Amino acid sequence: MASLFVFNTPILNSPHGVMLMPLLPNALASVLPTAFDADQRYSVDLHMHSTASDGALSPTDLVTLCAGRGLTHMALTDHDTMEGVEEASRAAQQAGLCLVPGCELSTRWQGINIHVVALMPGGLQGPMIEGLEQQREARIKRAEVIAERLEKMGLPNALEKARAQAGSDRPLGRPDFARALVAEGVVADWAGAFKRYLGSGKKGDVKAHWPEISEAVGWVVASGGVAVLAHPLRYGLTRRKRGLLMDTFMEAGGQGVELVSGQQNPDATRDLARQLVERELYASLGSDFHFPGSYAAPGSMSSVPRTAAPPIWQHPRLAHLRDAPSGMLGAKPLNKLS
Ligand code: AMP
Ligand code: MN
Ligand code: MN
Ligand code: MN
Repeated sequence: MASLFVFNTPILNSPHGVMLMPLLPNALASVLPTAFDADQRYSVDLHMHSTASDGALSPTDLVTLCAGRGLTHMALTDHDTMEGVEEASRAAQQAGLCLVPGCELSTRWQGINIHVVALMPGGLQGPMIEGLEQQREARIKRAEVIAERLEKMGLPNALEKARAQAGSDRPLGRPDFARALVAEGVVADWAGAFKRYLGSGKKGDVKAHWPEISEAVGWVVASGGVAVLAHPLRYGLTRRKRGLLMDTFMEAGGQGVELVSGQQNPDATRDLARQLVERELYASLGSDFHFPGSYAAPGSMSSVPRTAAPPIWQHPRLAHLRDAPSGMLGAKPLNKLS
């Protein structure tokens, strides 16, 4: 029998990314969820950004970096778009790693901007096609509203300035406005831009254009994908309210939650794991990588505690990933993209 690999064990934050390594004796391991049970070691990161949204690296350069860091499985999850997936798929084939097509959907729940990672093993298909068109239009309209507000607050020609920062014609995001505020000397740095103008509850945090979380989760599930609640510890919610969010998410068909997103307090992770187990949710993990030099390099997440929450790749829609030869998903024709 192939040796068992336990999802919740030692994660080496090595230059090779998160390594899933066997830790427990098999007797113990059998009562815990197992990860890829091949005689190979895998390194997985299911949340990353490229220049298709607010990441610094092109899809190709991102894949190359991931391959260099020893990742075997990666998901490209740009904000509200899968435009980078086709290029990333080609690069993944070249680099010999398995690419999971995806995106990170902007949604709303109780007046809060909540992110949902869509893992789309079949590529862009079904209601997601229409859904992403809707997101694109929402993002364009939202940028106009953000620009109007920032103009009133001392940044003339905000839309043009943010566009110049984006350096391409993709729909704008708050980071483009943050860079414009810094470039114009309105704030000293990026953090200040979010703290004063763009962060949660500030004037530039415009949410009205995003769909309810249930609607977005519906697109994912009806399109052959798996919906994953992104970075649940980053919304400033109480434990109870986070539980309510998970319940709404599940009622809509959501089945995964990011148990670990980038660097996290281990006690908070353990507590979050209990909320997943209570609800029989799958556990996902990702760095939320945006640019080199940040603390969250591809594959560099905090360790995953011992937990009974099954890893996301045991989900029936993703189970073929662990058997996928390198690049297999990347090689698969992607509807509307190939
Ligand atoms: P958007 O998708 O346009 O709403 O922009 C959201 C992105 O802005 C996030 O994915 C982060 O990359 C960045 N961001 C959001 N909040 C902050 C914050 N408080 N500090 C720094 N970056 C942030
Ligand atoms: Mn971002
Ligand atoms: Mn996010
Ligand atoms: Mn993200």
